[in-house]
Amino acid sequence: MRADIIIRDCMIITMGNAGLIENGLIAVKDGLLVYVGRSVEAPSFEADVIINGGGKIAMPGLINCHTHAAMSLFRGIAEDKPLDVWLREAIWPLESKLRSEDVYYGALLSCLEMIKSGTTCFSDMYFYEDSVAKAALEAGLRCVLSSGIIEAGHKTLGRILLNEAVGLARKYHGAYEGRVSVMLGPHAVYSCSPELLRRVSDEAERLNVGVHIHLAESEVNSDNIKKNYGKSEVKVLGDVGLLRPSLLAAHCIHLSDEDIALLAKHNVKVAYNPVSNMKLASGIPRIKDLLDAGITVGLGTDGPASNNSLDMFDTMKIAALLQKIKYSNPRVLPAKKVIEMATIDGARALGLDGLVGSLEVGKRADLILLDAHKPHLTPLHDVYAALVYSARGSDVDTVIIDGKIIMEKRNVKTLNEDEVMRRAEEKAHDLLSRKNTVRRLARKILRV
Ligand SMILES: [Zn+2]
Repeated sequence: MRADIIIRDCMIITMGNAGLIENGLIAVKDGLLVYVGRSVEAPSFEADVIINGGGKIAMPGLINCHTHAAMSLFRGIAEDKPLDVWLREAIWPLESKLRSEDVYYGALLSCLEMIKSGTTCFSDMYFYEDSVAKAALEAGLRCVLSSGIIEAGHKTLGRILLNEAVGLARKYHGAYEGRVSVMLGPHAVYSCSPELLRRVSDEAERLNVGVHIHLAESEVNSDNIKKNYGKSEVKVLGDVGLLRPSLLAAHCIHLSDEDIALLAKHNVKVAYNPVSNMKLASGIPRIKDLLDAGITVGLGTDGPASNNSLDMFDTMKIAALLQKIKYSNPRVLPAKKVIEMATIDGARALGLDGLVGSLEVGKRADLILLDAHKPHLTPLHDVYAALVYSARGSDVDTVIIDGKIIMEKRNVKTLNEDEVMRRAEEKAHDLLSRKNTVRRLARKILRV
């Protein structure tokens, strides 16, 4: 049989029905997995590219369910502040000066970091998502884009941003053989009015796309919602019709039992961002309770300014450790479950589990190879534990996305690494010294 790529003699963590395959072979043709199984049972393949997988672990590419890629430009700018101060005093003033090319170079830098640490798909929420699409396509990553919609008391602004989000969905949803998909991205319940959220709900239904929102991240904001509306953020979303299986809710920290039951009833998906939650001291989400209620939970890094890394191996380890402390129980979130969250459950959360998330015949070939010949991965008694507690993004040797080799022996083939870092650095410094022209323009448009 002919294939484009075969990987021989590797250990395969399929995250599908086949479980773990000790001495396996993977064959890829036309972007699809055409064989995933034991080497001895494989048909004989001829291939253009043959990768020796000896000493390597093959697994599904990691899926980052919640980030703001372009915020890499803000990395290290505002450290050790609570969420509201961080947003108001540091991030929002800088964001008001952003131009689309800043977002492009910031996103490109993040794409480079994600590829080098084994992430093959990311779900982004930001402004100028066209530029994020351009960066992701150039880098060769799979992405789910949500154009941020924020109102903050200005109805016209909400309307303009919703129109932009709808335009993005029309242009990109399902494009590039499903490599790009789109959700609508209302920022949060506290920054969008119920009227706007209802319009988002209607538009998402009409376009048949998901919705990506920050939910119950900060206790202060959650309490304010309760004071102002007399109900929880989750209930507000219920009243505007947004609780649905295609709602991706990031954070979900300050929830009552009733809120959790409502999320479960409507099959809402959750993105757990442990590092950002710890760094901003937002709180610890009750992941065990969410999972016990039957809710699908994916993992996210959140933006590089509140993490400050996009390494999903780092996030997997902290995801597990934080929950064990939360419940004073080492059995909570075992390693294999954490890997599920970073792969197949993440794919489910983004509505992409038919395409990616596990290594199974018929799915798109999004996979990574880790070099297990490392002191911290020796001996390999329990490969799932090694991946969560010992592995690092820098152990990733090869990245294949949609059947294309994007990184080989740690050399990224799609991007010029030095150039990407140089341009991002340039943009970050330029942004800091720039006058606030965009904000002045916004004031003119909004007459505020
Ligand atoms: Zn976020």
